[in-house]
Amino acid sequence: MAAQVRPRLTVLSGPSGVGKSTVVAHMRKVHPEVWLSVSATTRKPRPGERDGVQYFFVSDEEFDKLIANGELLEWAEFAGNRYGTPRGPVLERLDRGEPVLLEIDLQGARLVRESMPEAQLVFLAPPSWEELVRRLTGRGTESPEVIERRLTVAKVELAAESEFDVTLVNTSVEDVARELLALMEVV
Ligand code: 5GP
Repeated sequence: MAAQVRPRLTVLSGPSGVGKSTVVAHMRKVHPEVWLSVSATTRKPRPGERDGVQYFFVSDEEFDKLIANGELLEWAEFAGNRYGTPRGPVLERLDRGEPVLLEIDLQGARLVRESMPEAQLVFLAPPSWEELVRRLTGRGTESPEVIERRLTVAKVELAAESEFDVTLVNTSVEDVARELLALMEVV
């Protein structure tokens, strides 16, 4: 009897500013059929961000309700805001046998590991610490306090690499996107 192929949940995590969302955006341009979970967040939209596209932007009260109703697969507080993965859409797609990708922070990745041990955890590492600092500082959309907080978090997050199944070093967006697709068995 053929072994049952389980649909795979892949979690992409890594320090803030390492380029996770750029990699994911490139991957989706090349393979628009790859579904990426849209998280809920209490963070305010950045210029150009649209509700329901990059995130579902919700109030603190709405986020409390999502937690209370068990609607989040995982959630975490990051740099003063809360972020969470809506459970329903993820489970529906896995049930249909479709690959699912989450782009979440380290705390969220750990929670997914606990609740779904079969998930594949991918760590996106910067080419160097200096490069990460450059990227975090260069985005130009955050206040110095936010950047400082994010650097502190990033140091802790870099040390977590060993908890992950695979590390991809973000030297080139195209290469990393290709490697990620291969890990998801899309190509
Ligand atoms: P940003 O505010 O830059 O969009 O995201 C900040 C951090 O939150 C990033 O590391 C991002 O991966 C993470 N994040 C986004 N959505 C989620 C989520 O649903 N759950 C968790 N745990 N982290 C998330």
